Amino acid sequence: MKNMKFETRVIHVGGEPDPTTGAIMPPIYQTSTYVQSSPGEHKGYEYTRSHNPTRTRLEECLASLENAKHCFVTASGLSASTLIMHMLPKGSKIICGDDVYGGTYRLFAKVFPDIHEFKFVDTTDLKNLEKEIQAFKPALVWLETPTNPLLKISDIAAVSVLAKKANALVVVDNTFMSPFFQNPLDQGADIVLHSMTKFINGHSDVVGGAMMFNSDEIREKIFFYQNAIGPCHSPFDSWLVLRGIKTLAIRMKAHEQNAFKISNFLENHPKVEKVVYPGLKSHPQYELAKKQMKGFGGMITFFLKGGINESRRFLENVKLFALAESLGGVESLVDHPAIMTHASIPKAVREQLGIHDNLIRLSVGIEDSDDLMADLEYAFSKV
Ligand SMILES: *Cc1c(COP(=O)(O)O)cnc(C)c1O
Repeated sequence: MKNMKFETRVIHVGGEPDPTTGAIMPPIYQTSTYVQSSPGEHKGYEYTRSHNPTRTRLEECLASLENAKHCFVTASGLSASTLIMHMLPKGSKIICGDDVYGGTYRLFAKVFPDIHEFKFVDTTDLKNLEKEIQAFKPALVWLETPTNPLLKISDIAAVSVLAKKANALVVVDNTFMSPFFQNPLDQGADIVLHSMTKFINGHSDVVGGAMMFNSDEIREKIFFYQNAIGPCHSPFDSWLVLRGIKTLAIRMKAHEQNAFKISNFLENHPKVEKVVYPGLKSHPQYELAKKQMKGFGGMITFFLKGGINESRRFLENVKLFALAESLGGVESLVDHPAIMTHASIPKAVREQLGIHDNLIRLSVGIEDSDDLMADLEYAFSKV
């Protein structure tokens, strides 16, 4: 399958018919344990916290999509991040982007400071990052690109070169682009991380995380902590993701097509102050986006003219866009980061980053784009 295209691999890797019955869809191995023929003699599966055949299929598929040798799926995106933190020796230093997912920020700023030392920096500024790497000497650099919600883009290849010189690992949270639009390992990153909850599953009915990498050494460590700590993905949820992922390629194309139209609509709207979408020429890193991504994705951030009251009016009047946290599903969602997803970031830090009260984030679904724009127009008319 290695030489086949993404669209083929996403359906067939891990999707082989069941060898015992011929069932074209994989069975859900809803089992906690496996019978052994003699003590220690088994077919590669002992206990579902450690291994499960349905999960193995999903891991094979995801490894293929990120051009990786190994993949582990976990109970949530954040539990994947947690395992990476545990893999590092106590007292490690970590440089993390200053505009990462709110939950990642909370994990690093509130849970792990007893164990590791963190520094949050603007990873889009390579000169500054180089200085910070030399001074701080991190064991790991954590990138999220594009970021959430400001869609800032870090140069994965350039950051990987800087990190490698300092013997630091590079992790890229690739949730926003999905493996269809961006493959960080090909650009020099060591680990790529996804919240499968978002585009990979795509149907807003599963929580899960995934990590892909090529190093056997990292594989040993992550497997040890995954098994020792226990945040494993349930067989049923793995099966649902195997089902949802089959349409990842066509979903991503549809998300992007709609997002293009809507970003243009917003950019020309009198009630909008500014639009941020990597596919717009007005995006400050449009050239870098074109270079390192195969597409621009389905996430749009915009600033409404006005403040918190105008934002509330708008958010209370959208009907098709559901007001909800999360993103990446087939249905369109709208989020107010300052009150919802990024509330765990202190207000002063939020303001400094540019997450103001008039910032609205759209996860553009795959409905009809005219219907989506009509919905936004109605909400604007109420502001
Ligand atoms: C949602 C999200 C996470 C966390 O994933 P969960 O599955 O919710 O634990 C991490 N990074 C990004 C960019 C996300 O959007």
